[in-house]
Amino acid sequence: MVLAKEIRCMECEGVYPANAIIFECEKCDGPLDLVYDYHKIQDLILEEHFIRDEINHWKYWPFYPIKHLHKIVTLHEGGTPLLDSRQKKKWKFKYEAVNPTGSFKDRGTTIEISKAMELGVQQVLCASTGNMGASVAAYAARAGIKATIYLPDFVGENKCKQMLAYGAEIKKIKGSYQEVVRLTQQMNMQKGLYLTGDYPYRGEGEKSVGFEILDQLHFRTPDYIVCPAGNATLLSGVFKACREFKKVGLIEELPKLIAVQAEGCNPLVRAWQNKTKIREIKNPETIASAINCGKPVDGIKALLALKQTKGDAVAVTDKEMIVAMKELGKEGLYVEPSGAASYAGAKKLELKGEVVCVLTGHGLKEEKSFT
Ligand SMILES: [Zn+2]
Repeated sequence: MVLAKEIRCMECEGVYPANAIIFECEKCDGPLDLVYDYHKIQDLILEEHFIRDEINHWKYWPFYPIKHLHKIVTLHEGGTPLLDSRQKKKWKFKYEAVNPTGSFKDRGTTIEISKAMELGVQQVLCASTGNMGASVAAYAARAGIKATIYLPDFVGENKCKQMLAYGAEIKKIKGSYQEVVRLTQQMNMQKGLYLTGDYPYRGEGEKSVGFEILDQLHFRTPDYIVCPAGNATLLSGVFKACREFKKVGLIEELPKLIAVQAEGCNPLVRAWQNKTKIREIKNPETIASAINCGKPVDGIKALLALKQTKGDAVAVTDKEMIVAMKELGKEGLYVEPSGAASYAGAKKLELKGEVVCVLTGHGLKEEKSFT
């Protein structure tokens, strides 16, 4: 049963069928949003077991655009711990490193590949800075379909090895992540291959980070949720999750959302602070490869999220991320530099109150040593 009603452009309000395969508004190139029948969802989740059931990604199935629940492609993603900080009072860590391929990306990929199977797709294509590629490779393998992953050449060996282990074909391109994205989009147009990546279906899956955090807090809203932001799909997903839980009456207020970027790749932070449009960063540079995206695909949605929740955006240096990684190590948590960005940013802003930092990717994915 699909409770998605339509796809709506967030800029011009243009409307498309819920099952259309489109990646941006055909009228204005604006970002797209899937809209659901929230009355029907409300009927489904008001049943008592919903509140009691343990958290996991698929618990929130009415909020996903998937037709057949018995045909989903899953590796049991989500259900990750929300841990109290030992060092910072009232701060919590959502530890996404323990997902099946080591990052939060699996939440988007399970939706994207399940959808691809619904549509009868045999081969998927993906532009990635590493984590998404590894995730798409794993779920494509699980589904028995072919995956080709395009990567900028800064992506490290460990992540490439992971993709190859799942049987994906990988192609390294000299250039920035943005150039790789453009290449795959052209191929998608010319050859009609199914493009996975930071597009609407993935965003629908990444909402579950937000659903789980609110559920783990017994439907109480924290003061802040802090996310690293590359393409900003995670931040936009968490924003949508909070809005949807509010719409169906599970929470009363939205938390303030904070986007954290690397100083060497901070298009969102610049736009937020200068109140301008997002401008592409041409030669981004940071040790946090997973958020090295010069032109955030979901940038407009992210700015909207910051505005509507009275949030903030901040850039952290590579050094600040390394310090944060070490401090997280002392909490028993091992993350890659981008995974530590949220914690580094929350500290830099000296946030007060109940703060949830999303730690996005596992430390084992990174071959460089920062100790
Ligand atoms: Zn539009």
